[in-house]
Amino acid sequence: LEKDTCLLNSLIEHIVTLLNTQAIIKNIYIEIEEMDKNLYIYCISNQIKQVFMNFIKNAIEAMDKGKIIVRLKKDRSYATVEVIDEGHGIPKSLLERVGEPFFTTKEKGTGLGLMVSFQIIEDHGGTIQLESKEGKGTKFTVRLPLHEENG
Ligand code: ADP
Ligand code: MG
Repeated sequence: LEKDTCLLNSLIEHIVTLLNTQAIIKNIYIEIEEMDKNLYIYCISNQIKQVFMNFIKNAIEAMDKGKIIVRLKKDRSYATVEVIDEGHGIPKSLLERVGEPFFTTKEKGTGLGLMVSFQIIEDHGGTIQLESKEGKGTKFTVRLPLHEENG
Protein backbone atom coordinates (compact mmCIF):
# COMPACT_ATOMS: atom_id res chain seq x y z
CA LEU A 1 0.00 0.00 0.00
CA GLU A 2 1.40 3.30 -1.07
CA LYS A 3 0.53 6.85 -0.23
CA ASP A 4 -0.51 9.18 -2.99
CA THR A 5 -1.66 12.77 -3.36
CA CYS A 6 -5.41 13.00 -3.11
CA LEU A 7 -8.07 15.62 -2.91
CA LEU A 8 -9.74 15.33 0.47
CA ASN A 9 -12.81 17.26 -0.71
CA SER A 10 -13.60 14.66 -3.42
CA LEU A 11 -12.90 11.79 -1.11
CA ILE A 12 -15.41 13.12 1.43
CA GLU A 13 -17.99 13.83 -1.28
CA HIS A 14 -17.64 10.24 -2.47
CA ILE A 15 -18.18 8.80 1.02
CA VAL A 16 -21.21 11.01 1.63
CA THR A 17 -22.71 9.86 -1.67
CA LEU A 18 -22.26 6.25 -0.61
CA LEU A 19 -23.89 6.79 2.77
CA ASN A 20 -26.71 9.09 1.67
CA THR A 21 -29.21 6.32 0.90
CA GLN A 22 -28.72 4.83 4.34
CA ALA A 23 -29.17 8.28 5.89
CA ILE A 24 -32.26 9.26 3.91
CA ILE A 25 -34.10 6.11 5.05
CA LYS A 26 -33.76 7.47 8.60
CA ASN A 27 -34.65 11.04 7.63
CA ILE A 28 -31.09 12.13 8.18
CA TYR A 29 -29.61 14.80 5.95
CA ILE A 30 -25.84 14.90 5.50
CA GLU A 31 -24.55 18.36 4.70
CA ILE A 32 -21.02 19.00 3.45
CA GLU A 33 -19.68 22.44 4.38
CA GLU A 34 -16.61 23.14 2.28
CA MET A 35 -15.06 26.18 3.93
CA ASP A 36 -11.98 25.54 1.82
CA LYS A 37 -11.56 23.80 -1.52
CA ASN A 38 -8.49 22.04 -2.89
CA LEU A 39 -7.41 20.37 0.33
CA TYR A 40 -4.76 17.96 -0.89
CA ILE A 41 -3.33 15.38 1.45
CA TYR A 42 -0.78 12.63 1.01
CA CYS A 43 -2.57 9.43 1.88
CA ILE A 44 -3.65 5.88 1.27
CA SER A 45 -7.05 6.91 -0.03
CA ASN A 46 -8.86 3.66 0.80
CA GLN A 47 -7.77 3.97 4.40
CA ILE A 48 -8.87 7.58 4.71
CA LYS A 49 -12.19 6.65 3.10
CA GLN A 50 -12.60 3.91 5.67
CA VAL A 51 -12.06 6.42 8.47
CA PHE A 52 -14.79 8.76 7.27
CA MET A 53 -17.11 5.84 6.53
CA ASN A 54 -16.69 4.86 10.17
CA PHE A 55 -17.35 8.33 11.56
CA ILE A 56 -20.36 9.08 9.40
CA LYS A 57 -21.84 5.61 9.95
CA ASN A 58 -21.46 6.04 13.69
CA ALA A 59 -23.20 9.40 13.41
CA ILE A 60 -26.10 7.86 11.44
CA GLU A 61 -26.39 5.06 13.97
CA ALA A 62 -26.52 7.54 16.85
CA MET A 63 -29.48 9.47 15.39
CA ASP A 64 -33.20 8.94 14.79
CA LYS A 65 -33.40 11.84 12.40
CA GLY A 66 -31.79 15.23 11.88
CA LYS A 67 -28.66 16.62 10.34
CA ILE A 68 -25.04 15.58 10.13
CA ILE A 69 -22.58 18.29 9.21
CA VAL A 70 -19.28 17.37 7.60
CA ARG A 71 -17.14 20.50 7.62
CA LEU A 72 -13.88 20.81 5.71
CA LYS A 73 -11.43 23.56 6.53
CA LYS A 74 -7.83 24.55 6.15
CA ASP A 75 -6.00 25.33 9.38
CA ARG A 76 -2.45 26.48 8.69
CA SER A 77 -0.63 23.41 7.33
CA TYR A 78 -3.48 21.07 8.18
CA ALA A 79 -6.78 20.03 6.71
CA THR A 80 -9.49 19.56 9.30
CA VAL A 81 -12.68 17.58 8.91
CA GLU A 82 -15.40 17.89 11.53
CA VAL A 83 -18.18 15.33 11.64
CA ILE A 84 -20.95 16.78 13.78
CA ASP A 85 -24.10 14.89 14.67
CA GLU A 86 -27.26 15.53 16.69
CA GLY A 87 -27.35 12.00 18.07
CA HIS A 88 -27.61 10.54 21.55
CA GLY A 89 -24.05 11.48 22.43
CA ILE A 90 -21.59 9.62 24.60
CA PRO A 91 -21.93 9.65 28.40
CA LYS A 92 -18.96 11.20 30.18
CA SER A 93 -18.28 7.95 31.97
CA LEU A 94 -17.74 6.16 28.65
CA LEU A 95 -15.72 8.82 26.80
CA GLU A 96 -12.41 7.34 27.91
CA ARG A 97 -13.28 3.91 26.60
CA VAL A 98 -14.37 4.92 23.12
CA GLY A 99 -11.69 3.69 20.70
CA GLU A 100 -10.59 0.82 22.92
CA PRO A 101 -10.60 -2.42 20.95
CA PHE A 102 -14.00 -4.13 21.14
CA PHE A 103 -15.62 -1.32 23.09
CA THR A 104 -19.15 -1.02 21.74
CA THR A 105 -22.55 -0.02 23.10
CA LYS A 106 -24.33 -1.58 20.11
CA GLU A 107 -26.02 -4.94 20.08
CA LYS A 108 -24.25 -5.87 16.87
CA GLY A 109 -21.27 -3.56 17.06
CA THR A 110 -17.69 -4.71 16.67
CA GLY A 111 -16.12 -1.89 18.63
CA LEU A 112 -13.28 -1.80 16.13
CA GLY A 113 -14.19 1.12 13.88
CA LEU A 114 -12.72 3.88 16.01
CA MET A 115 -9.65 1.90 17.01
CA VAL A 116 -8.84 1.33 13.34
CA SER A 117 -9.59 4.98 12.54
CA PHE A 118 -7.28 6.27 15.28
CA GLN A 119 -4.54 3.98 13.96
CA ILE A 120 -4.96 5.12 10.35
CA ILE A 121 -4.97 8.80 11.23
CA GLU A 122 -1.88 8.37 13.37
CA ASP A 123 -0.15 6.60 10.45
CA HIS A 124 -0.93 9.69 8.36
CA GLY A 125 0.58 12.10 10.87
CA GLY A 126 -2.80 13.41 11.98
CA THR A 127 -4.91 13.58 15.11
CA ILE A 128 -8.50 12.93 16.16
CA GLN A 129 -10.36 14.97 18.74
CA LEU A 130 -13.68 14.00 20.28
CA GLU A 131 -16.31 16.14 21.98
CA SER A 132 -19.67 14.79 23.04
CA LYS A 133 -22.65 15.79 25.17
CA GLU A 134 -25.06 13.14 26.25
CA GLY A 135 -28.45 13.75 24.66
CA LYS A 136 -27.07 16.55 22.44
CA GLY A 137 -24.61 15.13 19.99
CA THR A 138 -21.05 14.36 19.10
CA LYS A 139 -18.29 16.02 17.17
CA PHE A 140 -15.21 14.28 15.83
CA THR A 141 -12.43 16.49 14.48
CA VAL A 142 -9.79 14.93 12.25
CA ARG A 143 -6.62 16.87 11.42
CA LEU A 144 -4.41 15.75 8.56
CA PRO A 145 -1.24 17.39 7.24
CA LEU A 146 -1.76 19.15 3.94
CA HIS A 147 0.41 18.09 1.03
CA GLU A 148 2.89 20.70 -0.26
CA GLU A 149 1.26 20.90 -3.68
CA ASN A 150 -1.52 22.71 -1.90
CA GLY A 151 0.57 25.88 -2.00
P1 ADP B 1 -19.11 0.18 16.78
O1 ADP B 1 -19.69 1.20 15.85
O2 ADP B 1 -18.96 -1.16 16.15
O3 ADP B 1 -19.81 0.12 18.11
P2 ADP B 1 -16.89 2.02 16.98
O4 ADP B 1 -15.47 1.80 17.34
O5 ADP B 1 -17.17 2.62 15.67
O6 ADP B 1 -17.59 0.62 17.12
O7 ADP B 1 -17.56 2.91 18.11
C1 ADP B 1 -17.43 2.53 19.47
C2 ADP B 1 -18.53 3.13 20.32
O8 ADP B 1 -18.35 4.53 20.42
C3 ADP B 1 -19.94 2.94 19.80
O9 ADP B 1 -20.49 1.69 20.14
C4 ADP B 1 -20.67 4.10 20.49
O10 ADP B 1 -21.00 3.75 21.80
C5 ADP B 1 -19.60 5.17 20.54
N1 ADP B 1 -19.74 6.15 19.45
C6 ADP B 1 -18.93 6.30 18.39
N2 ADP B 1 -19.33 7.31 17.59
C7 ADP B 1 -20.44 7.82 18.16
C8 ADP B 1 -21.34 8.89 17.83
N3 ADP B 1 -21.18 9.64 16.73
N4 ADP B 1 -22.37 9.13 18.68
C9 ADP B 1 -22.55 8.39 19.79
N5 ADP B 1 -21.74 7.37 20.17
C10 ADP B 1 -20.70 7.08 19.36
MG1 MG C 1 -18.65 2.08 14.18
